[in-house]
Amino acid sequence: MEWPLVFAAALLTALATGLGALPFAVVGPASLGARGLALGNAAAAGLMLAASGMLALEGVKLGPLAAAIGAVAGVAFIRVSDAVLSRFEDLDLGALKGADARRAILIVGIMTLHSAAEGIGVGVAFGDGAPLGWFVTIAMAIHNIPEGLAISLVLVPRGVSWRSAAWWSVFSSLPQPLLAVPAYLSVLVFATLLPAGLGFAAGAMAWMAVSDMIPEARRVADTRSVLLVAILAAVAMLGLFAVIPGG
Ligand SMILES: [Zn+2]
Repeated sequence: MEWPLVFAAALLTALATGLGALPFAVVGPASLGARGLALGNAAAAGLMLAASGMLALEGVKLGPLAAAIGAVAGVAFIRVSDAVLSRFEDLDLGALKGADARRAILIVGIMTLHSAAEGIGVGVAFGDGAPLGWFVTIAMAIHNIPEGLAISLVLVPRGVSWRSAAWWSVFSSLPQPLLAVPAYLSVLVFATLLPAGLGFAAGAMAWMAVSDMIPEARRVADTRSVLLVAILAAVAMLGLFAVIPGG
């Protein structure tokens, strides 16, 4: 198989991420209110926790020690980025200011970093043969839609348009086509990096969900509703994967 085809496949997975913003084209953010925004955060946290669980499992299968070191590094990375970003009092990102801008930068940043590990996964899978490559491509495209939704759930209720949220969602997955190609061309090198990369992504996402998004949701909504929404979102994402044959 030629590498441009691997690039095209991984680009499709990136475009699928933008589909996650579509619900907001139908349901305007204005109808959500403060409680809706809080529960949106809770749902995004649940989606991220489920995704991080799947990444961690994949990483541990490939290399438990490297995955564990990667996960600790992922948590450390978020703590450091958070500390650095909170030094900038008047942070702004388009329509977003202060804490909203910090949260938006962190979530888009984390999602972009974590898709680097997934891009390597796609490339390595194609290196194992086209059938596995296409299977991982389809699974990744489906996996990306709720991740785009998670990004949009954070951005849209804070005043970002659904079109921009769709673009930021696609942007967060661009490392997939960019890294799938080198990973495909030199599978041996990238296959050794993969468990640490998956662990890193899992640690970063789980930490962001638990240390920031859940507490943020609890400031407005009651704990019971927050946990219920987060758990339902996580179960829905895991359920989606259970129904994919062979997944
Ligand atoms: Zn992912």
